[in-house]
Amino acid sequence: MSEWYAEFENDLFLQLKDAKPRDLRFFRVEEYLRNVRRVDAFSSSCRECQSFRHEIEKHRDTVARAVNEPGRERRAFDRLQSGLSEHMKKEHGFYPPFYHTYLHAAGWSAALLALAVLLWWLFRAADIFVFLAPAFAIGVVTGQIVGGKKDRRVRDENKLL
Ligand SMILES: [Zn+2]
Repeated sequence: MSEWYAEFENDLFLQLKDAKPRDLRFFRVEEYLRNVRRVDAFSSSCRECQSFRHEIEKHRDTVARAVNEPGRERRAFDRLQSGLSEHMKKEHGFYPPFYHTYLHAAGWSAALLALAVLLWWLFRAADIFVFLAPAFAIGVVTGQIVGGKKDRRVRDENKLL
């Protein structure tokens, strides 16, 4: 852990000592800290992390206000957080829990539903639901198997956002 991060974390805890635990959860302050720590670790090799570090530094003193009251600071904090999460996902391979399961379940279901509609149309069957229901079920199960495997790997490699 770098000195910069240690000091940052300390500052943030002090700043947020009166904040409600519910708000801290809602605004994903722990995830923010984890991302700040990663940005710090990657900033020697990643230019974007470097600029995120500046951004984080810029918003350093307004996190409590962002958490405690709606307004400009909150919008800026939201933007910073989603930018960070997006970057960690795309460039450094960190994912939220069950990310791949949802993604694959949605993808497989959509593909199989399209196939079901095609089959229904080809065979001119009366009841479309005879095709749709199993297609959806198979899509969800396949997504859970394929995506679940990836999510397990993310967890095993300690790469949860
Ligand atoms: Zn980076």
